[in-house]
Amino acid sequence: MMDDLAPRSNVPELGPAGDYGTNWKWYKILKRLHVVLLLLWFGLMSFWWVTEERLAKHYDWLPPILVILGLASLVGSLVVRLVLAGWKCPRCGNRFHSKGFWSSDERASQCMNCGLPKWA
Ligand SMILES: [Zn+2]
Repeated sequence: MMDDLAPRSNVPELGPAGDYGTNWKWYKILKRLHVVLLLLWFGLMSFWWVTEERLAKHYDWLPPILVILGLASLVGSLVVRLVLAGWKCPRCGNRFHSKGFWSSDERASQCMNCGLPKWA
């Protein structure tokens, strides 16, 4: 009987807290991975740039490896960034940070399609 008095909405009701916890956990892991990969790229390229001549004298095999690892971390961070940009809302299944093709907000605090708050 009490259900008849509950307000109706077109937006699906949120389930119990923690329903989307696994989804947000992966989102947080990917965000941190993105930052780590960017820092790794920056660190490797800085190290290579500062020590290139000295390294080449004694360890001529090391600079190419630094460059390859740096480029790999940069490409990895870009891939993770693309995955984050296309992140699916756990409630509605649409892209969380965009509505349609032209409207997107990378820092949206709620789903741009159903209004689910981030981290809910
Ligand atoms: Zn949504």
